[in-house]
Amino acid sequence: MLVKAYGAHAADKPLEPIGITRRAPGPHDVQIEIAYCGICHSDLHQVRAEWEGTLWPCVPGHEIVGRVSAVGAHVGAFREGDLVGVGCIVDSCRHCADCGDGLENYCDGMIGTYNFPTPDAPGHTLGGYSQRIVVDERYVLRVTHPEAQLAAVAPLLCAGITTYSPLRHWGAGPGKKVGVVGIGGLGHMGIKIAHAMGAHVVAFTTSESKREAAKTLGADEAVVSRNPEEMAAHAKSFDLILNTVAAPHDLDALLVLLKRDGTMVLVGAPASPHPSPNVFNLITKRRSIAGSMIGGIAETQEMLDFCAAHGITSDIEMIRADEINEAYERMLKGDVKYRFVIDSASLAG
Ligand code: NAP
Ligand code: ZN
Ligand code: ZN
Repeated sequence: MLVKAYGAHAADKPLEPIGITRRAPGPHDVQIEIAYCGICHSDLHQVRAEWEGTLWPCVPGHEIVGRVSAVGAHVGAFREGDLVGVGCIVDSCRHCADCGDGLENYCDGMIGTYNFPTPDAPGHTLGGYSQRIVVDERYVLRVTHPEAQLAAVAPLLCAGITTYSPLRHWGAGPGKKVGVVGIGGLGHMGIKIAHAMGAHVVAFTTSESKREAAKTLGADEAVVSRNPEEMAAHAKSFDLILNTVAAPHDLDALLVLLKRDGTMVLVGAPASPHPSPNVFNLITKRRSIAGSMIGGIAETQEMLDFCAAHGITSDIEMIRADEINEAYERMLKGDVKYRFVIDSASLAG
């Protein structure tokens, strides 16, 4: 089945309309008419080949929501008309320890929603900047928010789970002081979710204009990280810092804000490495630097249900598909509050 999509044919080319094929649903497949797809900074990193191994054509998009239009004969959990989501994962090996633990995101055989090998044409997966997607039911999520919020739910499928998972894993909650660094797509979700978990949340931003905005998202305090005195006021006080920054930066300035045994979790995935941190900032307070990648399927469903129960969605700016290239430039300037979402209906035109 031919469907319309938006993608790029090379790293130095803009995204443009492109025709792609989707397989007919197999026995375990769910066919989804995509209503909205969020724009993650990872899409930009991949389509501009800032990370290694981009396959062409590249159709990004892994914050997908829509409605089921057909199901295979053996699909049990979904039926035509259901509101569903697809995040960053469309398959995995299904038998390793990570898959067994429901952590398909750490499976060596994980198949990402775009840029991963598949038997389908053209030989690699193509993502959500498209009208339709066909996914095995094991990797499809149920949307439990009201339908009117559907567009604002899309970013939860990556930005939501990528922040929820480490916040849960490292125990964000009452009595914990949690920093969220970089108030973009991921960071603004991190603030909302950490606040809903009951933590004391401090937002770190390089943008003075986001200082007050961070508080309306749920931050108890906001710090402009370029200001050394403001940073010093929080020395040795954090249990956890969730760092979402998409560019290399000085990790020491944040490490010294952790108290003894505190952890800074890196989720930002810049194209080039951060400068090495000073080892003394780790050993003198038994501090840790950790990393975390998206989340497992069961945990993603848990996150969606948690967000629905707490009335949490993303703050979005809706765009047409022909505005994607401009949206990328604005995202690079930090000029979006806080996530662009593509109205998939605009692909038809
Ligand atoms: P985004 O919307 O562009 O937000 C990134 C934020 O980082 C910006 O809004 C800005 O916040 C801050 N920032 C950017 N450049 C900076 C610089 N040079 N110095 C200091 N701060 C800077 O991006 P996103 O979609 O949230 O993604 C963030 C990163 O996470 C990307 O690298 C993406 O690839 C990665 N990611 C990782 C995972 C994972 O599984 N680990 C999943 C999704 C995305 P302020 O204006 O507040 O300073
Ligand atoms: Zn993403
Ligand atoms: Zn596996």
